[in-house]
Amino acid sequence: MHDVMIIGSGPAGLSAAVYAARAQLDVLLLESQPMGGGQILNTYEVDNYLGLPGISGFELSQKFMEHIKKFGIEPVTEEALRVECQGAVKKAVTAKQEYEARTLIYAAGSVHRPLGVPGETEFAGKGVSYCAACDGAFFKDKTVAVVGGGDVALEDALLLARICKKVYLIHRRDAFRGAKLLAHRVKETGNIELVLEAKVEEILGDGVVSGVRVFHKKKGETETLAVDGVFAAVGTLPRTELLSGQVEMDGDGYIIAGESCRTSADGVYAAGDVRAKAFRQVITAACDGANAVMDIERRLLG
Ligand SMILES: Cc1cc2nc3c(=O)[nH]c(=O)nc-3n(C[C@H](O)[C@H](O)[C@H](O)COP(=O)(O)OP(=O)(O)OC[C@H]3O[C@@H](n4cnc5c(N)ncnc54)[C@H](O)[C@@H]3O)c2cc1C
Repeated sequence: MHDVMIIGSGPAGLSAAVYAARAQLDVLLLESQPMGGGQILNTYEVDNYLGLPGISGFELSQKFMEHIKKFGIEPVTEEALRVECQGAVKKAVTAKQEYEARTLIYAAGSVHRPLGVPGETEFAGKGVSYCAACDGAFFKDKTVAVVGGGDVALEDALLLARICKKVYLIHRRDAFRGAKLLAHRVKETGNIELVLEAKVEEILGDGVVSGVRVFHKKKGETETLAVDGVFAAVGTLPRTELLSGQVEMDGDGYIIAGESCRTSADGVYAAGDVRAKAFRQVITAACDGANAVMDIERRLLG
């Protein structure tokens, strides 16, 4: 029986692991992927994490992993397939065994949101991608489209502009949601063409992507852009299905928990991108992990 079971080794889970180890709590950290670090593992650059400007996502994730290992924590590479939140003993079942703990910190993060248009599933991995940092190099000197208007879409467009001949940035509104600095850089980049107030209707191709059909809302016209790749960056969906029906969630499936990260189930905490909150960043995820453990510390140690 562990004191704390953490599911997920992104910034939230890893930060929780550091705080728990320092509080002398017995920690079990479950991570489904062989390399911990979460979403930042595939992020080209993280420029807004305090004290480490311009660090690559991979390097930052390795620093986080080194930090937990310094405290003797080794993640168990197993995916939680079922979780039991009710009762005094919290359980997680993997393909190999069942684990038990007095408290659970659920930090399973989020995954990309699909565009939901014809052609997307058909051409996934054949020109349709959700990770510019992972797949950008395959499109060297080619023409691609990025879809979205937040930070990730702007960052993806900038990254791809360094590799590709041309980048269309397609956004359904007339202004970007992302950081002003990034939007400014995008507008200053010669090989990025903005396609604003436009909606992607279909991804076209024959075996691989050859174009994207967009509908210009203002003009009421449809246009086909010839592209070799489409990078979707339209937000994320929380990975909270394992806790469905066991803790309170909002309409979008984010777990409702305050700053302490306590959920509606006693002894169960939600940290990082899975929690209903305004901003989802590395630093806010790490902050959740710390808060959850400090609350657990009070609870377990009085
Ligand atoms: C392309 C991109 C660029 C970004 N750039 C920045 C940036 O520059 N700055 C910034 O601050 N933020 C950035 N973010 C956001 C940031 O990465 C996230 O907010 C942060 O990673 C959330 O951390 P987390 O620990 O909640 O979840 P995640 O990082 O998603 O980690 C969750 C972990 O849980 C594991 N997991 C999931 N389900 C299970 C299960 N059932 N069993 C076991 N393990 C499981 C996953 O494998 C994963 O490792 C970016 C995100 C993306 C996608």
